[in-house]
Amino acid sequence: MAKKKTPVNVSDLAAGTFTGVDEAELLSERIARYGQAHARSNLMLDHLRDDPSDSSRKAAASLSTCGNYLHFREYFTVGKVRLHNATFCKQHLICPLCAIRRGAKALGAYLTRWQVIQAERPELRPYLLTLTVKNGDDLEERQKHLTRSLKRLMHHRRDFNAGTRGAPYSELCKALGAVYTLELTNKGKGWHPHCHMIVLAASQPSQAALSAEWHKITGDSMIVDCRPITGDPSEGFMEVFKYAVKFSDLTLEDNWQAAQILKGKRLLGSFGLFRGVQVPESLLDEALDDLPYWDRFYRFIQGEYQFTGESPKPRG
Ligand SMILES: [Zn+2]
Repeated sequence: MAKKKTPVNVSDLAAGTFTGVDEAELLSERIARYGQAHARSNLMLDHLRDDPSDSSRKAAASLSTCGNYLHFREYFTVGKVRLHNATFCKQHLICPLCAIRRGAKALGAYLTRWQVIQAERPELRPYLLTLTVKNGDDLEERQKHLTRSLKRLMHHRRDFNAGTRGAPYSELCKALGAVYTLELTNKGKGWHPHCHMIVLAASQPSQAALSAEWHKITGDSMIVDCRPITGDPSEGFMEVFKYAVKFSDLTLEDNWQAAQILKGKRLLGSFGLFRGVQVPESLLDEALDDLPYWDRFYRFIQGEYQFTGESPKPRG
């Protein structure tokens, strides 16, 4: 008998725990969630088809091939289901299905790193830091304002830590590592870009100090929130790795406009102990090697994913 690989490794566990969906018993919930996401992608597709511009046509062509079928593998001996194959458009700013998958992959990668850090540096705790800028009508201007302010805050930390002459102390110096994402909402009161950051620190950064520092930097915004991530870290981390645009808050028109402005911009960054984490390119799950499975196929028909067949595969 061939030597078996360990079927479930640490990174698989992290990804599974985080997405909370690779348990076989949660498959129907997962498929319903993907179905809702894909339905919204289809609305965007119709919206883009009404617009003759080049960029709309290209985005629509790619969207039209995304997520029409899903091929899962059920590893019935361990009760796990993995997404084995599908076609994705990878336009996470207009396609919620790709956004969900992208978030899950990033979450898995950073949770895995956190497990390693935690073992080496048990004194560190994760904190969720949210930095916002005032709402505004000009998305591009607001987005730039947030990005520049963030950069300045991180430069404060770097300069103080480097002992640069005259550099003032920054409360962010407490962070030995961080990963952050930029998120965009618009609840009808203007564009609201903000940043969610996971900060690793030995003591809690002061919200009041950060707020004062942030106000000095932005000139117009002091809303900052900083709280410890307690309990299951995957839940706190999830806040950071969810969508970059909040689809449910945006009209299709606003969503498309936002996507064009944010396209190609860096929406995820890190420093210190969280530097250099590689998020896999593929939006599929990793296979569980050497375990027997059933293939399960789903197609998007009449507004939902419907089961179209399965085939058993013996151990290879
Ligand atoms: Zn997609």
